[in-house]
Amino acid sequence: MHLKCPICGKPVELPDPARGNPGGPHFPFCTDRCKLIDLGRWLDGKYQITVSATDADETPAPDDSEI
Ligand SMILES: [Zn+2]
Repeated sequence: MHLKCPICGKPVELPDPARGNPGGPHFPFCTDRCKLIDLGRWLDGKYQITVSATDADETPAPDDSEI
């Protein structure tokens, strides 16, 4: 039985202790590269949310009196 890597879609073999197959060290990703990509995406999202919140605080409210 295989699972697709959430990053690149390559088949990843599921851990199966009964068969002496504990799964790869990168499970559920196919490689450490994909594992890092997923981590990077998560961190990027968190960073962007933080930046957006900061910008919202420092950006003055739009003046719509001209309309
Ligand atoms: Zn992958």
